[in-house]
Amino acid sequence: MDKEQGITVAKSAGFCPGVKGAIDKVLELEASGKKPIYTLGPLIHNKQVTDMLAAKQISSVDKPDQAQDKSGVLVIRAHGITPAFRAEVMQSGMEVVDATCPLVKHAHDVISKYAKEGYYTVIVGDGGHAEVIGLLGCTEGKGVVISGPQEAEKLPHFDKVNVVSQTTQKESVFLATAEIIKNKADICQISNTICHPTKLRQSETMQMAKNADLVIVVGGKHSANTARLALLCSELAPRVLHIETEAELTPDQVLNAQNIFITAGASTPNWVINQVAEWVRQTRKKRGRSLSGILQRFWTKFVSHSVYTAFAAAALTYVCMKLEGLHFQYKPILFSFFFVFSLTTVNRAMEDKTRPAGKLPAIFGYTAAGLGLLVAALMGVKTLVLCALIIGLGLLYPFRHILKSKLLSLPGTKDFLTAIGWGYACAFLPAFSNDLLLRRSSYLAFFYAVLLVFMRSVTLGFTSANKDLMIGKESFYKAFGIGKTKLAVMGMLAALTAVLAVLLTITWRPALVAMLLIGNLYTIFVVIYYYSHSASRGIKEETLIDAQFFVLWILAWLSRFI
Ligand code: SF4
Repeated sequence: MDKEQGITVAKSAGFCPGVKGAIDKVLELEASGKKPIYTLGPLIHNKQVTDMLAAKQISSVDKPDQAQDKSGVLVIRAHGITPAFRAEVMQSGMEVVDATCPLVKHAHDVISKYAKEGYYTVIVGDGGHAEVIGLLGCTEGKGVVISGPQEAEKLPHFDKVNVVSQTTQKESVFLATAEIIKNKADICQISNTICHPTKLRQSETMQMAKNADLVIVVGGKHSANTARLALLCSELAPRVLHIETEAELTPDQVLNAQNIFITAGASTPNWVINQVAEWVRQTRKKRGRSLSGILQRFWTKFVSHSVYTAFAAAALTYVCMKLEGLHFQYKPILFSFFFVFSLTTVNRAMEDKTRPAGKLPAIFGYTAAGLGLLVAALMGVKTLVLCALIIGLGLLYPFRHILKSKLLSLPGTKDFLTAIGWGYACAFLPAFSNDLLLRRSSYLAFFYAVLLVFMRSVTLGFTSANKDLMIGKESFYKAFGIGKTKLAVMGMLAALTAVLAVLLTITWRPALVAMLLIGNLYTIFVVIYYYSHSASRGIKEETLIDAQFFVLWILAWLSRFI
């Protein structure tokens, strides 16, 4: 939990896996150039996200025949649909992508199984909700939807009944309803199909809301699960505000509260939650402008706008130059700063597809690319030509789908290309501009930089998966999953340590290598920490992960005194 100034942001706030999976699928389709894309009903009940999708010409239709272009793709959203409607969709002749949440599919299977065995189905949920319509469609015409215990009392006696819940139902309501139905049936099957993410969200909310004097629930006013969360909070906390964005808040509301708990529904993007949390923090800070508040704001901007990462690249360049036996030169260091700043800024702006793309980051990114080329020109024509080529390719990466090349979408390519790019700027370029390319130490420095940056990129991808950055299969973690990612990173870490240990035993630049071996301990700490905690990518995570390059820089500098 994020606890600051009496403000706690729920760890479970934000997209649930089902919603995130559906949005990922749609954005992957869009990135692969497939158009037009039609979703069967709004993909998500959140205005900010539906506006973003509309801007990408991803529209919502109720039925396949409403799609104007039949060569487009139809997407079944996370809520799922009835078997009858599925058959109609499949016969439409359009390409169909099924983004039904696996946990909703599980509820469908449970209902179908018992319906086939002659059970009547009672669904505890909201009658008109899209998911519930889909569930009801699996009952083979022998089902009913009720909202809770009061309606359960009015139900008749059953021979065999299966009581099922909407996946986002409040658990206490479901259990109380099921208990009443149990007493009205000869055989009663209770199928608690409330999904695990919902249970987590509810239990965290119940724990935190009762200690807060103000709860802010962020999410669409039409989102059933957000409304249910707000209702749950209103039973526990004295004041609850259900808002869509921070624009609905007033300073008085947050200044008069001691403990504020911020939570959100399953369809609220993290960037909206973060904006609300940031607004609340800033409003409370303005009351007493402390130095720590000013420093914190500065650091947040410094890291989130990639300046910190650019300095990390400059630090790694210094380390690589030491490994290559070069004297300090400012030009390659300056180049890697601009190079990494420009590519990270431009790629980030394109990568975070749920956030409205800002023009300013892109302008800064392209300006840095120009400054990088200016520095490259100072290193000679050959260097300028090569750098222009590499920067050009890097800036074109977000538009790779235009090429329709499978090579650029291979699993893990994004992390691999990032590592190669940094390896080029931090290790290759210093050697190239000094005509020292064929030396063993140059290859070694390149290999060292690529391994370190690959691990960094994979680890950042892993932390991003807990947020709503839309990362695709080009990200190693997304392509190979947690188990293989951990194994790969541990393997690389072992390889890096082994190489440094061998260099030490053959007394190759012993002082420097000994220091880098010590620096490896920090990298080991970063890797173990992030793969054992499900931390979401934030300022603290980026600060700690990129700090490894500053640790190595300090140690490499200290090695000159040994
Ligand atoms: S709320 Fe649960 S069941 Fe529904 S889409 Fe999200 S993860 Fe899936």
